[in-house]
Amino acid sequence: MSFADLGLSDELLKAVNDSGYTEPTPIQRQAIPSVLMGRDLIGIAQTGTGKTASFVLPMIDILAHGRSRARMPRSLILEPTRELAAQVAENFDKYGRYHKLSMALLIGGVSMGDQVKALEKGVDVLIATPGRLMDLFGRGNILLTGCELLVIDEADRMLDMGFVPDIEEICTKLPKKRQTLLFSATMPAPIKKLADKFLTEPKSVEV
Ligand code: AMP
Repeated sequence: MSFADLGLSDELLKAVNDSGYTEPTPIQRQAIPSVLMGRDLIGIAQTGTGKTASFVLPMIDILAHGRSRARMPRSLILEPTRELAAQVAENFDKYGRYHKLSMALLIGGVSMGDQVKALEKGVDVLIATPGRLMDLFGRGNILLTGCELLVIDEADRMLDMGFVPDIEEICTKLPKKRQTLLFSATMPAPIKKLADKFLTEPKSVEV
């Protein structure tokens, strides 16, 4: 199976080709067509399996072909650490080079003022750590009612870092009618519970 069989747009296939990838990894083969169809997904996969592209690529196509609602973010990607969030942002820029989508990286250690300015201008995608996102909420700087696609990445690490209550609160601020993707290397009971609560009839893929 090649990237062209997954249902991605020509612009994305061009960006994938620029990256030098010749064929999709197993997680990409299993996840991308389902995500494009709008399904919720549980992906049991570790870093290094190509899982980032398995959610960033279909997300770009979904956003590019949908209609934007008044400058509100339409997608949210949650990452446990600043470093992972920054890596996902780099991937988003790389795969989205033929699209006009905007993104804000909301992580600690960076001035909140610049992040607030970016939010005021309006962005399509937020890539955030839960802590910084909750801080921005507390200050009334952020509205997630237009976020119809949520990715919870590295869920088991989120659990280890004590972020599950924040994630639960963040989920309640998003529209109920949305698509949710959850990735985790392992499935401890609290993450299974989180998935049961916030995902709807998810497809499960394991690599
Ligand atoms: P990830 O698991 O998302 O952290 O990706 C691990 C590494 O694999 C990254 O350096 C990606 O650039 C690379 N990668 C992702 N998809 C592919 C692919 N289909 N073929 C070759 N390399 C890939």
